[in-house]
Amino acid sequence: MTADIIVLGAGSAGLAAAVTAARQGARVLLLERHGFAGGMGTASLVHTFCGLYQIDGEEPVLANPGFPAEIAERMLHATGARGPVKMGRVWVLMQHPVEFVRIADELLAGSGVEVLFHAEVVSTRKSPEGWSLGIASRGGLIEAACKVLIDTSGDAVLAGMLGGEADLTEPARLQRPAYVFGIQGVTGGESGLQLAGRIVGGVRNGVLPKEALGLHFRASGRVAESFGTIDLSGTEEGDYDPLDAACLTRLERSGRATAAVAIDFLKREAPGWEGAYISHWPVRAGVRESRRWKGRHLLTGAEVLSGASHPDDIALATWPLEFRETNRGPKLRYPESEQPAGIPLGSLIPMGLENVFTAGRCLSCDHEAQASIRVMGTCFATGQAAGMAAALAAKGESPEEAPAALRKAFG
Ligand SMILES: Cc1cc2nc3c(=O)[nH]c(=O)nc-3n(C[C@H](O)[C@H](O)[C@H](O)COP(=O)(O)OP(=O)(O)OC[C@H]3O[C@@H](n4cnc5c(N)ncnc54)[C@H](O)[C@@H]3O)c2cc1C
Repeated sequence: MTADIIVLGAGSAGLAAAVTAARQGARVLLLERHGFAGGMGTASLVHTFCGLYQIDGEEPVLANPGFPAEIAERMLHATGARGPVKMGRVWVLMQHPVEFVRIADELLAGSGVEVLFHAEVVSTRKSPEGWSLGIASRGGLIEAACKVLIDTSGDAVLAGMLGGEADLTEPARLQRPAYVFGIQGVTGGESGLQLAGRIVGGVRNGVLPKEALGLHFRASGRVAESFGTIDLSGTEEGDYDPLDAACLTRLERSGRATAAVAIDFLKREAPGWEGAYISHWPVRAGVRESRRWKGRHLLTGAEVLSGASHPDDIALATWPLEFRETNRGPKLRYPESEQPAGIPLGSLIPMGLENVFTAGRCLSCDHEAQASIRVMGTCFATGQAAGMAAALAAKGESPEEAPAALRKAFG
């Protein structure tokens, strides 16, 4: 298989990158190990688009034009929601993972991206034409070649394969993972606060494990359907490693076991929960932070807080620094500047590699900046920019023109 551009990973960033590059006329192959696109926003049931809108403001104002605005509009249409909702100082758009999968299928088909699901990239090497990839599929190993690569794997997996420069925050400070699952059959009753009180009581009485303290619920927008989210500590020993299969296995088991016992408890104890049941497990536990590329520019938390701009900015970061370094809820730090920080093209260009770009939660930034730029609204924007830069590179033009090309295409 050959393509001008191969996009590795079809999460929010990879979807935006693939669609954008294909719309620029490139032959794009998108490789995804799961059976659908959306990444954390579908496989891990994360159900809110954050970072689409500017902070504050009486009305929601879209931060980044082009793909982020387009997907917001499609999601609003699909869910029938009236619009984004304001939570404190930020506007968020509720999204439904089922609709996200469908919208992604439509966008990919409509833009002519060639897609391979159930295709896990397991090796990458330089070739005379560009890059050659080994892909594990059900029938065995297949090869694909391209001129330009985009790593939107969330884990900077290419860095692992190529020995590229990358970073991973120490286990104790890594943003904690969480387990999101679907619930049906709740017919009303108690508020989130009352349910939290019941859970605390259950833990105190020894009926529930202490992991259940991290559990909270949000209505999905569909009749009698909710999502439960359990913030996990990683591991008891503080050795959380989002790249380690044994550690991820412990997360999956702990998430499922806690969810099952907590829903049984609420069925017995909480009015309106008598007929509740777990309707779906996620494909995988949610990982907020993992390995990040080191690129030509390393975006810092200080830059996000001060509203820094760069000559090669390709998107705006409009989410506060959301720290989840423990499983006891978020700690938010809002930018001091009214002007949102820019994310430069240099953060999408891994050091020392030609014709490789990255985007999404593994782009080049420090732990603090990742606490902002990891949200899906921002991932759509950085993915779009990586797609534009890759399309220019594939045509033999300078990817440095991407900021200007983005302004020309989307204003
Ligand atoms: C519990 C939790 C709650 C969150 N809450 C919110 C929220 O409310 N709002 C918000 O906007 N964001 C939220 N986030 C953050 C957000 O969901 C993610 O940071 C974002 O979705 C990351 O997008 P991405 O495209 O960079 O990576 P991902 O979504 O992780 O996508 C990467 C894709 O690459 C694929 N892949 C990886 N390796 C390979 C390989 N070798 N071969 C083939 N495919 C591969 C994966 O299967 C995946 O589909 C939350 C995250 C978590 C975990």
